Amino acid sequence: MKISRILATKGRRVITTRPTITIREAIAAMLEHNIGALPVIDENEQLVGIITERDIIRNLAKDEKLFSQAVQQFMTRKVITGVAQDDLESAANTMTERRFRHLPIMDGSVLVGIVSIGDIVKAQRDEYRGAVDTLQTQIIEEQ
Ligand code: AMP
Repeated sequence: MKISRILATKGRRVITTRPTITIREAIAAMLEHNIGALPVIDENEQLVGIITERDIIRNLAKDEKLFSQAVQQFMTRKVITGVAQDDLESAANTMTERRFRHLPIMDGSVLVGIVSIGDIVKAQRDEYRGAVDTLQTQIIEEQ
């Protein structure tokens, strides 16, 4: 199965943030949309980073003034991205090996979606359930 299948179900709308937004505002956006990661987009609409709840928690332990500081101070700048044609399995392997849970999906330099490890696990579970249902139907028909 390809990433494009997940995007077709979940949609291509991506909630993003700007590098100069404060961490307080980034947290508000995560809470409002019930998400744990925000791709960071600059004024030219280019992906320049990603900030996740994990970045915030890790840095909060070191710096209690973090809430009023800018996202760009804490975001990860070297973002690993995928494309809609990627297989779910290879995307899941990358995320597992590199220990992150969010993969922005690009079409050239344009951000066209984001998938989480949770989206991938759910898609794989639905696929396996569909395969089990088909096999059970075949067994019943053969009896
Ligand atoms: P996560 O597990 O997604 O909350 O992220 C764990 C760490 O990896 C955080 O420091 C994130 O900023 C970083 N991270 C998350 N997604 C990506 C990604 N696609 N590419 C690079 N770093 C990422």
